[in-house]
Amino acid sequence: MTTDLMTCPSCHATIPLQEARFCPYCGKMFKISTSIGKQVVVYFVSLFIPPFGFWYVWKYIRQGDRKSKVIGIVAAILTVISIVISIWLWDKSVAALNQAMNASLGGFGLY
Ligand SMILES: [Zn+2]
Repeated sequence: MTTDLMTCPSCHATIPLQEARFCPYCGKMFKISTSIGKQVVVYFVSLFIPPFGFWYVWKYIRQGDRKSKVIGIVAAILTVISIVISIWLWDKSVAALNQAMNASLGGFGLY
């Protein structure tokens, strides 16, 4: 597994992104990205790989500023919607499978 690296905007030291709440070299605090590109990634992950969405939710809500919190809340909503849709689709396919089974058993005179 690779570790994402970023450069401190203050002292230009290279630091792991996981610890990017503040720079371990100069102590400067900084925020995680709230750019549109980053938001698209966060929302995409929330919708298509829901368990990872919760990781972003936690990370963004913890930031404390308003914009990050909004991103975290939207990601949370998308994650929940995605999970609900997955359960609903699963339910639908199980029901369809049951129906198909019953129909074929009926055809053989076993039902
Ligand atoms: Zn620094």
